[in-house]
Amino acid sequence: MLLFKKINDLQNHLDRQRADGKTIGFAPTMGALHAGHISLVDKCNAENDLSVVSIFVNPTQFNEASDLDKYPRTEESDILKLTQAKCAVLFMPDINEVYPKSTENTETFDFGGLVKVMEGAQRPGHFEGVVQVVKRLLEIVRPTRLYMGQKDYQQFAIIQEMLRQMQSKIQIVRCPIVREPDGLAMSSRNVRLPADHRKRAVLLSQILEKAEKQAKQKTPAEIETEALKRMENEPDFRPEYFKIVDARTLQPVADFTGENGVAACVACWVGEVRLIDNKVFD
Ligand code: AMP
Repeated sequence: MLLFKKINDLQNHLDRQRADGKTIGFAPTMGALHAGHISLVDKCNAENDLSVVSIFVNPTQFNEASDLDKYPRTEESDILKLTQAKCAVLFMPDINEVYPKSTENTETFDFGGLVKVMEGAQRPGHFEGVVQVVKRLLEIVRPTRLYMGQKDYQQFAIIQEMLRQMQSKIQIVRCPIVREPDGLAMSSRNVRLPADHRKRAVLLSQILEKAEKQAKQKTPAEIETEALKRMENEPDFRPEYFKIVDARTLQPVADFTGENGVAACVACWVGEVRLIDNKVFD
């Protein structure tokens, strides 16, 4: 694996690869890598000549300074995991490479209702930061395909819409959620859960499973109320939302008849750690 910290060096290498007609699959990450991230690398390798992963903890997408400070950083083991996964190129820029002038964001897209709900409502400025960094990384890497996880369901929808508005030729590929054996969605934040909370955090995926089963008998509103109550009754759990939404527009649904299908999305604090998960209903 080649490791680049400077844009110039990375681009010189990737320009040569492109000149040889090679396709490039790109997976942006914030490090603290787990098997979910590695599944993106595997897909990049399977569908492209070359895989590029970036590790950059983007300060502009953190709406709370303490969350940024506590974000796990595990550079050495990340490099080892990516090498084992046969990642071809790792890009690990520092902040001045990514934002040479300032971190101020002048780009504006109109994402309509997509950014107004769920994570967008709970974390002011978060998606502006995500859009800013992904757009910048795409300008730097210029991949054939972009690989992002369903784990961040709303993020995927917003970046897909960004590419559409930019009339970009980059194909975005949605990768399924990789889970721990008990069902908990893998997340870099899981390492911050104490053992008891870690054990009980599986409740989130169980609630999503149950919600899908209930869809035959109950309304979305009834399922949401029951799910919120279940989390509120669990010690140390503080739900922020449990929403059943149109799988494409992410707006609330009154029933299950819409042609886009539905997804259930949850955000919940478990002790000091904020977890998100989702399920697209069959
Ligand atoms: P992050 O480092 O958390 O910004 O995540 C980088 C990418 O990995 C994003 O596209 C995430 O959606 C994806 N990702 C994170 N967790 C998982 C998971 N459990 N399964 C699949 N993809 C994931």
